[in-house]
Formats: sequence, C-alpha cells, structure tokens
Amino acid sequence: MVDNDVLKLLVELIKLCWSENVFIVFTHGLRTMEDQAEIYGKGRASYIYDGKQYGNPKANVVSKAMPGSSLHNYALALDFVTCDGLGKNVDWVVGPKWRHAAANAKELGFTWGGEWKPFIDYPHFQYDGGLSVSKIKQGKFPIFKSIPVRASPSQKPPVSNQQASNQIGVVKILVDVLKVREEAIFTAKVVKAVRKGQTYKTYEKKSGMYNVGGKQWVSVGAAYTKFTTT
Ligand SMILES: [Zn+2]
Repeated sequence: MVDNDVLKLLVELIKLCWSENVFIVFTHGLRTMEDQAEIYGKGRASYIYDGKQYGNPKANVVSKAMPGSSLHNYALALDFVTCDGLGKNVDWVVGPKWRHAAANAKELGFTWGGEWKPFIDYPHFQYDGGLSVSKIKQGKFPIFKSIPVRASPSQKPPVSNQQASNQIGVVKILVDVLKVREEAIFTAKVVKAVRKGQTYKTYEKKSGMYNVGGKQWVSVGAAYTKFTTT
C-alpha cells in the first residue's frame, strides 16, 4: 500500500519500464510504526517502542530508521526488485535492469536509495519532493507534480522507421498469458508475457510466429492470437 499520488506514479513507472522490457515487482510499501519498530529492533539487544519490547538480538541489523524516520511509515516509499517478463524469476543481484528501473523512477520524481551514502538501499524508492524526513515527521507532505512527459522519445527501445512502415496488421492476444519470444522459434528465450485482450502492431509472419516489434515474437496459433490486417 502506498499513497494515492505515489500509486499513480508507480503505474506510470511500470508502463515506462514495460515498454523497455524491464519488469519490476514491488515488495514493500507502507509500514506501520509497529512494523518499523520490529525492523529497527533487529540486531539490537533492546528496543522499546510504545511500551513494547522489539529488541531481537538474534537477527542482523537491517535498518537505522526508528519508527517515524522512514518514508515507508508515510506511504511514500516502496521497495522493488526486477524480474523476468513472467514475474517468476527475480533478479536478486543489482544489475543494469535495476539501474534502468531506477533511472525511470528518478525521471518521475522519485529518490533512489541506491544513490544514498553511506547507507545504500538499492531496492528503495521514495517520493519526498525534496523534503527531509524530519519535515515530513512534522506533518509536511510532498507536493506532487503532474506526471512528466518524456522529452526525448529516443530513449525508447529502437523500433526502426522501416519496421514501422512495414506493419502488416495487428494481433490480439486471446489467452490469459502468452509468452513473447526473442526469435521466431518456439523454444527461443522468453522475453516477456502479454495478456488477454491486448493488441500489438505486427510486422512479419515467419515460422508460425508473428513479429510484434524488435526481437519479440508470438505464436500464430488460432487459439492464441487473432490477426487482422490494417
Ligand atoms: Zn525501503
């Protein structure tokens, strides 16, 4: 759970990342003060919050933020990981996809914990609008600007003009989840999954598969897709 304005930005972030074949999963949003006390208590012999003992010396220290000192406590922060297009295999190691997702999040006004010093928090984004935690603690709340429109479409994945003019039609996805493969081979690497009812511009038909742009192919099978010429 996150603030409603944050949620709108997250939807936009997912769309931006999706269009670039980067897939993200959010793992944590709002944390109550008690949740935060439990996290802060990890690795500490004793920590009392609101009269209750949260110390958990057996665990490792995971946070330096006491209740009220994390933007998670105000529904303004969330944690993420990147994953494959099917949402099954998660990238636990911080790599280029993480950085790509983080760059998109920053474009939308988020601060990325991966750039904090000295306590780097790679999975963490927050929308603080330039306010410090103490200001937010005092009751100030960030002002949400309208969702920025991308200035340079060149950042989008390369779809050549030639391909755009070579459109042969559109395919509509007929099954709940359909795998998109890297090549026109049924055993080729899956790059993402698309969902029922979505339509995609189609550029080529080859070896029983439709090309839906770049290195993205879906099955021609009548049970899976419906093709219409444009
Ligand atoms: Zn976080």
